[in-house]
Amino acid sequence: MIRIGHGYDLHRVVPERALALGGVHIPWDRGLLGHSDADVLLHAVTDAVLGALALGDIGRWFPDTDPRWKGADSADLLRRVLADPRVQDWQLGNLDATIQAERPKLAPHMEAIRQSIADLFGVDASRVSVKAKTMEGTGAVGQGEAMAAHVVLVLEPRGS
Ligand code: MG
Repeated sequence: MIRIGHGYDLHRVVPERALALGGVHIPWDRGLLGHSDADVLLHAVTDAVLGALALGDIGRWFPDTDPRWKGADSADLLRRVLADPRVQDWQLGNLDATIQAERPKLAPHMEAIRQSIADLFGVDASRVSVKAKTMEGTGAVGQGEAMAAHVVLVLEPRGS
């Protein structure tokens, strides 16, 4: 038996914020707005894990009204989810992600992002795929106002 999860997230691009994607710091003159570190990719990954197991969503687990999560490291939020007893019985089968961003160029960072996500799940990077696309100048992402991420993953029983 396997479980399939889907996650989606979008954050506004703003000046004077650091950019974290998949737990990797990306040097840029802008970043993403959010209560936590606004790592749009890890938020979509976390929602996909929660979705696969029908455990709600990241907003329910870590409400942005709760000062505990202000400026939170999204890798830490994902670690908290993965450490939950209801999640512990499962391991990552594979994960496929697409980041939508007009800038900056993400190709030089892709391997680091893949490895970072694989490390969080404790699996080999061959189970993790991360792709990036622009929006050809259209819409909020294409105009550089926002960045989005889509994630699909499979969880399989641990030890299978
Ligand atoms: Mg988010």
